[in-house]
Amino acid sequence: MKFNYLIERIFASRWIAGPLYSDAINVSFKLKKRHILSMINFLGENYSNKSDIKSNVDEYLKLIKKIGKSNTNSSISIKPTQIGLLYSKSELYKNYSKIVESAKKYGIMVWLDMEEHQYVKQTIDLYLLKISSKNTGICIQSYLKRSMNDVKNIVKNNGYIRLVKGAYKESKNIAFDSREKVTENYANIMLYLFKNSKHFLLATHDLNMIELSESLNKKYKRDVMYAMLNGIRNREAVKLADSGHKMIIYVPYGTQWFKYSYRRLREASNLKLVLRSLLSRQNIN
Ligand SMILES: Cc1cc2nc3c(=O)[nH]c(=O)nc-3n(C[C@H](O)[C@H](O)[C@H](O)COP(=O)(O)OP(=O)(O)OC[C@H]3O[C@@H](n4cnc5c(N)ncnc54)[C@H](O)[C@@H]3O)c2cc1C
Repeated sequence: MKFNYLIERIFASRWIAGPLYSDAINVSFKLKKRHILSMINFLGENYSNKSDIKSNVDEYLKLIKKIGKSNTNSSISIKPTQIGLLYSKSELYKNYSKIVESAKKYGIMVWLDMEEHQYVKQTIDLYLLKISSKNTGICIQSYLKRSMNDVKNIVKNNGYIRLVKGAYKESKNIAFDSREKVTENYANIMLYLFKNSKHFLLATHDLNMIELSESLNKKYKRDVMYAMLNGIRNREAVKLADSGHKMIIYVPYGTQWFKYSYRRLREASNLKLVLRSLLSRQNIN
C-alpha cells in the first residue's frame, strides 16, 4: 500500500497534474505564465459501461465550463473509448457532439487522442463527423503503416492533425517495427503536412524532428504548433516557447494514472532516461 502511494506520488507530481480538474487548471495557469498553452486530458480508457461513460462525459462538460471561466485558453483531449466507442456508435457520436458543441460555445478546441489500431477507423470517422465545426483536431500515429493515407484523407477535408510517433504496442504487420522507421515515417508525414496543410501540431520530444521542422518552416512558412507531454521535457518546452515557438503541453489529471504512466515508462528506451526525466526539475513556475 505504502509502495503504491509512493509510486503514485512520484508520477502524480511529475507527469500528472493531480486527481482533480482544478489541479490541471492550476498547471495550465503556470504554463500560461511561460507563454505555453495546455491541452487537458481526463485520465481513463476502455470503458464499456454506460454509467462510467456518462460520468466521463459529465467530467469533460464540467472541465469545459471551468476552462471557459478560467481564461487559461486550454484545449481538451479525449480518448474515444472514454466516451462510448466500446459501447455503441450512436452513444459515441451523441457524446462527442455534445462535448464539441459545448466547447465551441467557449471557443475551446477538442482533440481526439488516438488509441490502439483497432479503433483508428472509428476515431477518424468520428472526427470527420464534426470536422466542419472547426474547433476539433485528431491525433495520428507515425508508427502505423496506414497513417500517410489517413493524413492525406484528413488534409483533403481541411482537418487539423496532431502528429505523434505512437504509444501502444502494435504488431509488425500493421506498424513499423523499429524506432528508426517510425521516425523516418514521422519525417515523411511532417514533410507532407508542410507541403499540403496550413496548420498542424507536431507532438514530440524528439529534438531532431523539431530541428528538421524548423528548417522546413523556413521554406513553407506554416502555422506550426509544438506539443510535449507534461513532465517529460518541460525545460525544453520553456526554451522553445522563449525562442518564439507556439508550444502546448498535454496535461493529464485524474486517478486512472497507471496505464498512462506505464506507456511513458515503456517508451523511455532505458532506465537512465526515465530517471533523468523524473529527477530533473520539471516544475514550471
Ligand atoms: C502532446 C502529445 C500527445 C500525444 N498523444 C498521443 C495519442 O493520442 N496517441 C498515442 O498513441 N500517443 C500519443 N502521444 C505519445 C507519442 O505517441 C509517443 O509515444 C511519445 O511522445 C514519445 O515519442 P517521441 O516523439 O517523444 O519520440 P521518442 O523517440 O520516443 O523520444 C525522443 C526523446 O524524448 C525523450 N523521451 C521520450 N519519452 C520519454 C519518457 N517517457 N521519459 C523520458 N524521456 C523521454 C528521450 O530523450 C527520447 O530520446 C502523445 C505525445 C504528445 C507529446
